[in-house]
Amino acid sequence: MRNERLKKDAAGYTDQNLHAPGFGAAPRSLPIQWKWMAASLLLSTLVLLLIGGLTLWSFKRYALGQVEKSLTAQAALAEDLFRDPLLSGDEEVVDPIADRLGQEIHARLTLLRADGTVAGDSYESGADLRKMENHLHRPEVEAALARGTGSSIRFSETVQMEMFYLARRIQSGGETIGVVRLALPLSDISTQMIQMRHFLLVALGIAFLGALLLSYLLSKRLAAPLLQMTEAAQTIARGDFHHRIRIRSGDEMEALGEALNRMADDLQRKIQDLSDDRAKTLAILSGMVEGVLVLDDKGKIVLTNASFERMFVLSGDTWIGRYHYERLRHYPLNALIEEVIQSGKPLSREIQLEIPPRPHLQVQASVTERTPRSVVLVFHDITEIKRLERMRKDFVANVSHELRTPLAAIKGYLETLADGGLENPTEAQEFLTILQKHTDRMANIVRDLLQLSRIESGLDPIRPVPIDLREAVDRNLLLLKPLAEKREQTLAVSVPPGLSLQADPEKLNQVLINLVDNAIKYTPERGTIAVTASEGADRVVIEVRDSGIGIPKEDLGRIFERFYRVDRTRSRELGGTGLGLSIVKHIVEAHGGKITAESEIGKGSRFFLFFPKQPGV
Ligand code: ADP
Repeated sequence: MRNERLKKDAAGYTDQNLHAPGFGAAPRSLPIQWKWMAASLLLSTLVLLLIGGLTLWSFKRYALGQVEKSLTAQAALAEDLFRDPLLSGDEEVVDPIADRLGQEIHARLTLLRADGTVAGDSYESGADLRKMENHLHRPEVEAALARGTGSSIRFSETVQMEMFYLARRIQSGGETIGVVRLALPLSDISTQMIQMRHFLLVALGIAFLGALLLSYLLSKRLAAPLLQMTEAAQTIARGDFHHRIRIRSGDEMEALGEALNRMADDLQRKIQDLSDDRAKTLAILSGMVEGVLVLDDKGKIVLTNASFERMFVLSGDTWIGRYHYERLRHYPLNALIEEVIQSGKPLSREIQLEIPPRPHLQVQASVTERTPRSVVLVFHDITEIKRLERMRKDFVANVSHELRTPLAAIKGYLETLADGGLENPTEAQEFLTILQKHTDRMANIVRDLLQLSRIESGLDPIRPVPIDLREAVDRNLLLLKPLAEKREQTLAVSVPPGLSLQADPEKLNQVLINLVDNAIKYTPERGTIAVTASEGADRVVIEVRDSGIGIPKEDLGRIFERFYRVDRTRSRELGGTGLGLSIVKHIVEAHGGKITAESEIGKGSRFFLFFPKQPGV
């Protein structure tokens, strides 16, 4: 459970706080293993190509070196051989020797005079020989004339192929008399080169395949820990902090893995702390009786608690992230929020909601110090305080009003008596009776008020004892019987014998007397008053019914209020204080019971008392 919450929190934190690109997502580009493999393959291919190229190049150099070596040796021989014939200058002598020698050494042999004209050639003879152009400016010839020997590789137009030329100066008595030039077609070397290339291609191909396999294995081995770490990081990012990386490579990868593990530990601890803090805050918020509303500095709703949602009848969580005026359609409250956002100063105000039961709320709004700033509003439900305040005001007004009339009367009559009213004894007697009546009334009011306040303040606690209800009803009715008889009313009792009730005897008497007295007062002569009782599973119901004047529907709900009377004058005439039913209600409720009334004008009223069998339940 705790783990689940942690995961949820972690997901929230990573969602909100870890906006790292690609964090927790699958890599979009090529996997690193393939990248490494491609890089190492590229490198091996380059190395292989370099090796191949170098081999080919050095092979060619070696082959050419060999050719040069043998041609140099042959040219040295030819020098000696041609010195004398060349001195004769007769091409008829020189050319046949050139032809023969050329054949023997399998190379073209050209003999030049010192001026560059051809004296003999193993490929040409006769007229063709004489037509041959001057060779003085052939690079190998120029080099040979200058340094003794010279070589060059060129394409020969005469034989239509690539040739290796080597020329050697022929000297006699310290003087250059001609140049012998040997030419060998490079087709042999080319054939060998082609063979060499084939061989190299196969060898390098095999090496490439080897490199391919090796780079695959190597990159796989290298990428494995990285892959493991990526997976672990993703798992941790998803909120599974128990996941750990195990790499035993002994290098930086292992160090990185351990660093990641430590990071996961830290993260787990931090998220756990945050999650605990959050849980505590939420628990406090949801346990608060006060409503809490938190907004950001733009007026968007960030947080609410259960009490707030109850007060404003909000359900779901669609208001989170919305502006306060979108969801809270209460102009004074929205104005207050705007004022606090603008001024940044705390404010306190009373508001009343339109939503039933139209509670009165005391709003305390403040702005947090930390940036980004938040506006915190705390709503105290002061409906009950307001009601009590109103009741207290009404009560004071009622008491003053109730006492003012008898006091004014008493004062008036006393003044009359003092101003000579005593001179007429009959009149004085009459005044005294009136004075007594008003004093009694005041005394009654004060008595009832005292009684009420004693019950309310708990100074007069309920002491329940088992009571035989029938006996109690009979006893109390006996007291009221003379009153009923005077009005020729019928008093009927229907209480099952032995019906027992847990109640405070004195208070139960008060209740019964009050109700039956009211029934007698508000029932015309010859009417009927009945007291019945029945027993339920867990309660006893007492009903006081009369066939009297009844109570209008609109007043029925208020007759239990202090000083509330349907007909003020009538009640006063009958000696009522308007506090009787209020006292009755308090007593019944102090027993854990309930009182209700039904009535129909002109037909009569019914008062039902519900007493629990176990008082205080
Ligand atoms: P009061 O001292 O005026 O009788 P109560 O608190 O006992 O004060 O009763 C409040 C009012 O309820 C009375 O003034 C009367 O108008 C009305 N009332 C109470 N009992 C009855 C009844 N049995 N029949 C008709 N009206 C009644």
